[in-house]
Amino acid sequence: MGKILQISCPKCNYLKQIHVGHGMADFHLEQIMTYFTEEDSKRIMKYQSEGMIEHFHYDRKLSICPGCRRLDSTPTLELILHSGDTVKFHAKCTYCNEEPEILRDISNEKSVTCPYCNNGELSIQQAGYWD
Ligand SMILES: [Zn+2]
Ligand SMILES: [Zn+2]
Repeated sequence: MGKILQISCPKCNYLKQIHVGHGMADFHLEQIMTYFTEEDSKRIMKYQSEGMIEHFHYDRKLSICPGCRRLDSTPTLELILHSGDTVKFHAKCTYCNEEPEILRDISNEKSVTCPYCNNGELSIQQAGYWD
């Protein structure tokens, strides 16, 4: 079950709800692959078809894009291989194709400046769950 975050700025009217975590449909790699670039999904498919994957972690993480300054949730995937290696995939920004910067620990994130007015400090609150 994922969390819905409500992001708001006290200085401007910016208000956005962002879904993080993962939903019910996100337990199948075939579904998860579609969130990544064609090149990445081919790599994921290759690991799977060669039986190299021990298990995987999929999560949408709160991120900020250095290109267009949008806050969004970015699909991230970690494949843990039988060999012990971990392979990580991060989706690109859906608006400008830059690599978004993941905001690590949402609840402990000290301050994120509002990307719209560049003035207020964003408030990040949990608004509910999704699945
Ligand atoms: Zn962007
Ligand atoms: Zn603002």
